[in-house]
Amino acid sequence: MLTVMCLNKHTTFFTALSIIGAKLPALIDVSCINCDMCVPECPNDAISLGEQHYQVAAELCTECVGFYDKPTCIAVCPIDCIELVN
Ligand code: SF4
Ligand code: SF4
Repeated sequence: MLTVMCLNKHTTFFTALSIIGAKLPALIDVSCINCDMCVPECPNDAISLGEQHYQVAAELCTECVGFYDKPTCIAVCPIDCIELVN
């Protein structure tokens, strides 16, 4: 499962997921310009505006499986500030 979130706040959470072998969320980093391009593209309404920039709710993000061949938020972001965590 992928989700876009603030890396600094959720590093421990992602590490825990990695240890148990779960898929990890995508991340929106602090360079996000709040352009709003990714929000309407998400099939799960997982992206919302946080305190300073957009973020993804880990529990809602499904990596776009069943909707798109690849995470659509990453495809539409004009500044490539979203990435998957491996
Ligand atoms: S667009 Fe896809 S990859 Fe991005 S947050 Fe939504 S479900 Fe996850
Ligand atoms: S498309 Fe990229 S820059 Fe625009 S709001 Fe989403 S994450 Fe931020």
